[in-house]
Amino acid sequence: MKKLILILFFSLALVSCKTSDKIENVVVIGGGLMGSSTAWELSKYGQNVLLVEQQDSIYTFGSSFGETRISRSLGPNQDIFSFLQQTSVSETKDLIDFLNEGELEELHAMEEIYTTSPVTYMYSKSQLNEVEELLNGQPVKYEYASNSEEAKEKFGMKISDTMMVIREFEPYSGTLNPKVLIEKLHQGIRKSGNRIDYNQKVTSIKKEDGIYEINIKDTKTGTNKTILSKKVIAAAGPYNGTLVKDIAPYFDSLISPKRLFLSFLKIDSDKYAMFTIDQKKKLQESYPVAYLNSEIFYSMIEEYDEKDNPLLKVGGHFLRTDIEDLDKVWSMDLTTQEIKWSKENTADYLVKLDLPVKFSDLEYVRGYSCVYSLTPSEIPYVSHALKNETEIDSSFVLIGGMSGVGAKGSLAYGLVAADLILGKRNDSSMYQKSKSALGAERLIKDIQHIDN
Ligand SMILES: Cc1cc2nc3c(=O)[nH]c(=O)nc-3n(C[C@H](O)[C@H](O)[C@H](O)COP(=O)(O)OP(=O)(O)OC[C@H]3O[C@@H](n4cnc5c(N)ncnc54)[C@H](O)[C@@H]3O)c2cc1C
Repeated sequence: MKKLILILFFSLALVSCKTSDKIENVVVIGGGLMGSSTAWELSKYGQNVLLVEQQDSIYTFGSSFGETRISRSLGPNQDIFSFLQQTSVSETKDLIDFLNEGELEELHAMEEIYTTSPVTYMYSKSQLNEVEELLNGQPVKYEYASNSEEAKEKFGMKISDTMMVIREFEPYSGTLNPKVLIEKLHQGIRKSGNRIDYNQKVTSIKKEDGIYEINIKDTKTGTNKTILSKKVIAAAGPYNGTLVKDIAPYFDSLISPKRLFLSFLKIDSDKYAMFTIDQKKKLQESYPVAYLNSEIFYSMIEEYDEKDNPLLKVGGHFLRTDIEDLDKVWSMDLTTQEIKWSKENTADYLVKLDLPVKFSDLEYVRGYSCVYSLTPSEIPYVSHALKNETEIDSSFVLIGGMSGVGAKGSLAYGLVAADLILGKRNDSSMYQKSKSALGAERLIKDIQHIDN
């Protein structure tokens, strides 16, 4: 009997801790915007790639959670973030074309991902030099109001003379929908013949004799397995530091997850029903908005209800706080102060738009806590890992620290990560500039500044 129990125990242990003999070419860990974009770009290059994601096929938490992000193109001369946004738009067009290939009708459209609308930027007069530099030779189409009179004439806005307003008009600037983009990237990966394994949480990564051993726990059954791969791309968002602790421990010190809050507000329905058609149109055309003040209030229209009343999503880019427990932060409620701040800033903006709305006309519908990750310079990393903290490990790439700018450049970051892992060259000057701003040269310097 004892023998039988022992045999049973060992066979169970073997089942729950299986190592596959197969060696994957490339494994991408994390199916948010960055990992999905990278796995898609690798698929586009005709590579065999496996994408591993701890969540189910419907993405429910993480930095990419939600249905709107600001997509904007305006930036100073030779700005890498403008380049990355524009590259991402053109890569997304390729994805849509690929998904439509072989279909009898056009099943996929850019408009499912992007809502083109003007993007409004507000500045204070103390930022005049910054604004002038931004607009000097600006190729993106824009309108500019340098004082209250111009703001009234051009945008129907009531602002003080201490403020300035810029409005950007570009195709695919406005908002983008991360949920739909992730779904389409996953469709593209699968249509290319590649695999996505959901409910698979990577618990550790080790390298033995040049091959990565990736330990994985099935989040539904609890069983463990090990897969092998020649190359790995880590794209675990706020979890990157923990994920790569055995391979590249310095990332844990260099990538800091921060909590942010998002409020969703609605204008009182009776009040909104009294808006004229012009007022409704004005409201629609005035979102998304970013007020480039010390907190960076930003807001966009998440959706419309059955009476066409918009749900306004509101946040403050610099109102981010440290996190005690990353696994619990997602369920943290908003504070009264955060909700008040959201309403005050929204009311203030609506008054500047000369719309008949007060603080008390704004209803807090819901809110949630979310997380993005910051590097010391707040510029993301798309970088090889390092051996001995100075030499590049060409078989490992990390894409992370995406801050509040990642979504609009998703497929461009994915393209750079795919090129790095495949050793592909792209000699265009803006590509090179972006690659070096995001890559290993900076990482080496950042590592030298880690406090011991
Ligand atoms: C509040 C907020 C507002 C933002 N606003 C904008 C904006 O307006 N414009 C803009 O361009 N960008 C914006 N961003 C930034 C953008 O959303 C992020 O940069 C982007 O979503 C980051 O994607 P990611 O793939 O790196 O991370 P995530 O979406 O977090 O993806 C990481 C994935 O890895 C998975 N994972 C983690 N650990 C493991 C593991 N061990 N095993 C397997 N899978 C794992 C997770 O489940 C997750 O799916 C905003 C971000 C936030 C939080």
